[in-house]
Amino acid sequence: MDMVTQPQDQVVFHLTGKPAGAGLLPLNNCLRPAQLARYADLTALRYDFPLVLRDDVDSADVQPDFVASLSALTSEVLTDLAPRGPEGERLRRHVLRLEREIRRLLAEGSSGKLSHLWSTAAERVGSPDDPQVAQFLARIAAALHADGELLDCGALLPARFVHHAWLSVHAEKARAFHTQVDTLVRQLSDIQRAALMRSAAGRQPAALRSAIGTPHADTFDFEAMSRLVTRSSPQEDLPPARRQRIARALEVLRGQRFYPRPQDDQGDAFVFEFTSCASAAAAYRARMPYLVDLVKAIAIADLESTGRYAEADHDAFFERFDAEALTAADLALFPDYLVCIPADRGEAPENAGLLGLLSAGLPLKVLVEANDLLEDDVGGAAQFAFGVRSTRLATTAMGLGGMFVLQTASSNLYALRVRVRHGMRCNQPALFCVYPGTGTPAADLPAYLTAAAAMQARAFPAFSYDAGAGENWATRFSLENNREAQSDWPQDDLVYEDEKLQRIVERTAFTFADFALCDRRYARHFVLVPRTHWNQAMVPAAQWLELPQAQQSERIPYVLAVDPQARLQRVIVDQRLMQAVRRCQLLWRRLQEHAGINDAYANALLARERAAWDAQRQSEGAPDAAATSTAAPEPLPTAAPQPVSDAKPRDDAWIETTRCPSCNECQLINPRMFAYNENKQAVIKDITAGTYRQLVEAAESCQVAIIHPGLPRDPNEPGLAELIERAAPFR
Ligand code: SF4
Repeated sequence: MDMVTQPQDQVVFHLTGKPAGAGLLPLNNCLRPAQLARYADLTALRYDFPLVLRDDVDSADVQPDFVASLSALTSEVLTDLAPRGPEGERLRRHVLRLEREIRRLLAEGSSGKLSHLWSTAAERVGSPDDPQVAQFLARIAAALHADGELLDCGALLPARFVHHAWLSVHAEKARAFHTQVDTLVRQLSDIQRAALMRSAAGRQPAALRSAIGTPHADTFDFEAMSRLVTRSSPQEDLPPARRQRIARALEVLRGQRFYPRPQDDQGDAFVFEFTSCASAAAAYRARMPYLVDLVKAIAIADLESTGRYAEADHDAFFERFDAEALTAADLALFPDYLVCIPADRGEAPENAGLLGLLSAGLPLKVLVEANDLLEDDVGGAAQFAFGVRSTRLATTAMGLGGMFVLQTASSNLYALRVRVRHGMRCNQPALFCVYPGTGTPAADLPAYLTAAAAMQARAFPAFSYDAGAGENWATRFSLENNREAQSDWPQDDLVYEDEKLQRIVERTAFTFADFALCDRRYARHFVLVPRTHWNQAMVPAAQWLELPQAQQSERIPYVLAVDPQARLQRVIVDQRLMQAVRRCQLLWRRLQEHAGINDAYANALLARERAAWDAQRQSEGAPDAAATSTAAPEPLPTAAPQPVSDAKPRDDAWIETTRCPSCNECQLINPRMFAYNENKQAVIKDITAGTYRQLVEAAESCQVAIIHPGLPRDPNEPGLAELIERAAPFR
C-alpha cells in the first residue's frame, strides 16, 4: 500500500478521541448507519412482526407453532381466498394495507388480540363506498387460523415469547401427566371397587343397590341378592396392608398440586413462574417432599395395577425412597421452573447463583435479557468492557456444559421459535439470553432494528448449545442463522448517487463500529468528516482491521452513515472503539471455531499435511507446490492497535478477579500459575510458574476476557513477537 498523507486532525482524533480542527464535526444526532438507511419506516415493511401469541397454545394441534407471524397468517389465508386476476390483486392490496395499519396501531401504543386490532384497522382502511372490501376483510378475518395477543418487537417481547413457549410445553407435559395419572387412578379404583364387591360390606343390600345403580334399582330384590352372594362368594377381602397402600396412593395422586385441573382449587396449586433464581430454587426445594411422595405413589400404583407389587421386595425400597432415588425420567414428568429475570435485575443478589443452579441440574428455564452490549468506562478500565457481562453469559454457561443454551437478538426470536421450544422441552436446564434492542436509552432506532443490527454486527450473534444433542461440538453447537457465518462481517451492496448523480454500488461490511454508531452514548468515539476533507488515508473500518499493524498507523478507519436528508457521510472512529471492534471480531471467531469454521487445530493440521506433502514431492523431484503457486498468501491475523494515551495498558499481568465467573479454563492451562481465591474467583497465584504463551492462551480462552497478560517477563521466550501481537487486545 502506498504511503499516504493523513490529515493531522484526523490522526489526533483517532489516537486520542479528542476532536480538534475545522475538518472534523461532532456527530450529528440524526445520523444512522448507511446500511440501515432503507429502513426508515418499519411499519411500511412486511416482515415477521408483529407476532400472534396463540390463544390455543395448550392445544395439541398447534404445537410447535405456539406463535405465528401476522404476515404469514394473512398470506396463508390470501392464497386460499383471494380470487385470481385484477380484482383479487385489488383486494389483496387492501389486506396488506390493513396489515400495515395494524403495525401502525401497535407503534402508536395500541395492544390487544389480533381479532380486536383487525376490526379497528379494518374500520380505518375500509371505505363506505366500497362494501366489497369490508366484506372481504371480514371474510379474511374469519378464516385466519389463529387468534391471540399481538406483540411487536419491543421491551415486552423476550419475556412474553419465552413464557408462551414454556406454556406450550407445560400444556403438553400436563396432558401426558394427566393421562398417566388418570389411568392409574382408574385402575386402583377398579381394584378397590372389586375388593369392595367381594367384601362383607360390599355384599350388604345397600352396597349392592349402589353398585347396580338407579336405573335398575326397582328391578332387583337386593335383600335376596345379598343373601345369595354372601352364600356363594369366597370370604376374602384385600389384605389390610395392600388396602392401605392403594388408598394412600390414590390420595396422593388425586391431591397432587403440580398439574391442577381447572376444577381444582387453584389457590392450592404450585406456581412455576418466577422472576428470580433464588425464589425458583427455594420453591423447588420446598416442594421436593411432595414430588418424592407423588413419584412414589405413581410407582406403587403402577406396580399394584399390574399385580407386580411384592411386599418382600418393595416395602423396604419405598420406605427408603427419597429425593436421591429420583431419576431423570421421574423429574421429566414434572413442570420446569420458568424464571424470567427482569431486565434490571440480571446482576441482583437474588440471581447471583444462576450459573451454579443451572450447572447443578435444577429444572430451570431461565431468560436473561442482555441490555447493554458495550459497557464504557467500567471502573476506569483501559478499554471498553465489551461483552463482559451481557454478552458472555451464554458462552460461560456453554463452557459449564450439561444444559441447553440459546443466545439471540429479539428480532430473531420468531425465526428460532422451534429452537426456543426445544430448549423448553428438553430434560436439561436451559438458559435463554436475549438482546431486546431496548436497553440503549440514547439510541433512536426502533427496537427491532437495534436488535437486528446487534446480531448483524456480531455484537450479539445467535447460537445454541445443546448438551443433550450428542458427544461433540459438531452435534451440540450451532451458529444458527447468522448471516454469512463464514465471514467476519456480513456485507451488503450499498447503492447511492454521488455528487454528479452517478449511481454507485459499494460493497459494505456491517461491523461492530456501525452498531455502536446506533447508540448516541458512544457519539464521542466518532467524528464526521465533511466531504471536502475526505482523503485516501481513510479506509472502511472492516478493511482497516485487516491491515498489517504498520499500515494501520497510516490509515484512519471510518464507517458510512446517512443524515436525515439521505446524504452519505463518512464518520471516523477513534482507536478505543476500534479496540472494541477487534475484540468483538475475536469473540466471533471463537464462536466460528466452535462451529468448525476456521478451526485453528484443523488449519494447523492442514498446514502440516500440506508441508509433509510438499516435502515428499520435493524428495521425489517434483516442483515445490508453494513455489509454483500463483495464489496470494492468506492475510495474516491483524495486529492490535496501539493503546490510546488516556487508556494505558499495564505491563504486569493481572486478572479482574471480581468479574470472574469461575469457569476454570485458565487453571486447565496452568494450575500452578492460576488459582481460585477464597471466593472461588481466579487470581494469578504464581506468575513465575508458567510462560508468557500460557498467559496469552489463558487470556484468549477466558470466557469473559478478564485476563490481561501484560508484557513478557522473559525476553528470550520463543515466539515473543507473535505472542505480543496476540496479547495486545487484552492488555
Ligand atoms: S479468569 Fe479463569 S476462571 Fe475466571 S473466567 Fe477467566 S478463564 Fe475462567
